[in-house]
Formats: sequence, C-alpha cells, structure tokens
Amino acid sequence: MRPLVAHIDLDALRHNYRLACQCAPHSHSVAVIKADAYGHGALDCARALAADASAFAVASLDEALALREGGITVPIVLLEGIFNADELAQVDQHRLWMAVHSAWQVDALLAFSPRAPIPVWVKVDSGMHRLGFAPDTVSAVWQRLSEAPQATALHLMSHFATADAAESRYFHQQMECLQALGDRLDAPLCLANSPATLAWPVAHGAWNRPGIMLYGSNPLETTTTAADTLRPVMTLRSEIIALRDVEAGEPVGYGGRWRAPRRSRIAVVAAGYGDGYDRHAQDGTPVLVNGQRCPLAGKVSMDMLTVDVSDVADATIGSEVVLWGCAANGAVLSVDEVARGCDTISYTLLTGVLPRVPRRYHGAFG
Ligand SMILES: *Cc1c(COP(=O)(O)O)cnc(C)c1O
Repeated sequence: MRPLVAHIDLDALRHNYRLACQCAPHSHSVAVIKADAYGHGALDCARALAADASAFAVASLDEALALREGGITVPIVLLEGIFNADELAQVDQHRLWMAVHSAWQVDALLAFSPRAPIPVWVKVDSGMHRLGFAPDTVSAVWQRLSEAPQATALHLMSHFATADAAESRYFHQQMECLQALGDRLDAPLCLANSPATLAWPVAHGAWNRPGIMLYGSNPLETTTTAADTLRPVMTLRSEIIALRDVEAGEPVGYGGRWRAPRRSRIAVVAAGYGDGYDRHAQDGTPVLVNGQRCPLAGKVSMDMLTVDVSDVADATIGSEVVLWGCAANGAVLSVDEVARGCDTISYTLLTGVLPRVPRRYHGAFG
C-alpha cells in the first residue's frame, strides 16, 4: 500500500468547535462543513460534532441531503439557499434552513406551500459584493418575509471581506451598515466567519459561522491567544520511499529548479500534486521528516516530492514524513505555513486533498 494517508483527529475538531463557542459565549455557532468539511469528510465530521454543534452549514442541497442520509438530525443551513425552485420540496421535507440572497428565491419561497415554515436567513450585501440584497432593499424583503407563513426565524446574514486583516477600515464600515440594519429591523444577526469569531467580538451575533478554524487553521494576519490554541485536525502523512546523495551543483526534479548548494541527501516522498499537494510549493517549503523540519527541494511531481534531509541523521526508507499536521514526536507543522510556501491559503490545500488519499479517522465519535 502507498503510505500516504490523511489522518483526521476528531478530538481536535471538537476542541476547535468548543473554542469557537468560547470565543463567542453569547452566540450559537453553526459549524461550517461545506466542501466535504474542507476536505476532512463532512459526514464523519458531522457525526463527531453532532452532540455539540447547534447547527451545520453547507453550500448546497446535495451536501445537506448526504448528511441527512447519514443520520444527521441537527439543523442544517444552506448558505446559498436554493439553486432552483424545485429544491424547496426537499428543503421542507428534510427540515433545512436556508439563506435567501436574491429576489427570485424570495418569490419562489412565497409561491411554495411548505408543511412547516422554513427558517430563513436573509443575506445582505454589506460590502463583499458577492451575494445578498443591497442594504437599501433589505427592509422590503424583510417585511415581505416576516408577513409570510412560509418563513420563520428570520435572521439577517452577511459576510465580511476583510475580517482577517489586523486593522481594517472596511470591516468597520461593513459593521456599521449591519448594526444600523439590525437595529432598524430588530433582526438577530449572523455575521462572523472564523476570523471575526476569533478577533472581532463586535461581530458576534445570535449565530456565528466558523469554518476554517474548526480544522485548526488560523485565518488571521496576526495571531491571538485563542488562535494559538487551535489544534490541527488533518495530518497529511507519508513516508520516504527512496534516498540518494547528490553532489554540489546537481539539479533535482523537473526543470532542475533546485540545485544542491553542497553535497546533499535527498529523500523521495510518496506525495505529489496528484494527491493534492500544491505544485506551486517553492523550494524551502517546510516538511517534517521524523519530526524535524526540512526544506522541499525541487518541483513537486504528480506522485512524489523531494526533500533535502541532509540534516536529518536518522532519515531512512520508511521514515515518517508529515506534509502538514502533527508528527509522532509531537512536532507540529501548520498548514498555514505550508500554504505560505505555496503562495496560497490553507483553504485550498485542505479542500484540495484528492479522493485517492485515504482518510483515517481518530478519536471517538459523539
Ligand atoms: C465558507 C463560509 C463561512 C466560513 O468561513 P471561514 O473563513 O472558513 O470561517 C462563513 N460564511 C459563509 C457564507 C461561507 O460561505
């Protein structure tokens, strides 16, 4: 068997969810598990969180139905609502909650007769300029829905463009818009993503929507005491499958991008972009070999990558290689740091782990 496995620590997931709740003691926290729980396996993660989580959030009806079929009875919010009116029957049947971001969704809901009123989160575009009603049109939508028998438990929902920045005028501008709307409509709010949950108590509402922090990644530009206690959930672990010594000046890998600055020991690791390890990883991107940090050396191949292990005395065939997460000796390599080496963000690395990488779950369910 190929040694590459994504180990998922469900105790760490629960720890991080509880941390999100502790950061915002007056809010409920909907655990965002869209995109297969950011690559961690939505159903397994939902089962692990079901006893704690007040609700789950997903991107589509399909994602919600997979959870319901798996026996998840906790409320599930559709963050983008329905994609066409036909989906309302299933929203009703499976007791889903839904966002509405566009007039056509409101029209469709009001033309539908659910068995029970559907909890609705009205999305307002307070500055992200992606989804949502313009602030000056939201009162009319709110009014229509509050009088409609099809809708219940109305909340005002919005998303921040810059909550991860250490200081952002734009964040405060969005916040002012939302506070004014919330006051005018007397609406419970659902605003905070992970960075706002961690760093902006002013944004904590009736509900928050932490996502990436549940998986142990810190989305903030600068860290906080709470962010420092996040635990990595995924450990992408493999092994050394070959070792060779190269002379000073010799190239390694496609295009010869890396050249040995001295006589060097090169480890070949079973993990590549065909597994989702980012091909944009620069030379020097950190990797843990036997729990010791080593630099990536050479371009990532489809099934393999190469690491300079000249300074790892005990590196041998079969040695543990951690691409991100926790090593057996307790060393931790944050996926955020790896993401910087790839000029990307943890979100793309985690959601990018491909199906050919087996997931192995650790920690008790429920
Ligand atoms: C994905 C998503 C979130 C979670 O964002 P994180 O940055 O992962 O915490 C919150 N709200 C909406 C609308 C989303 O689409």
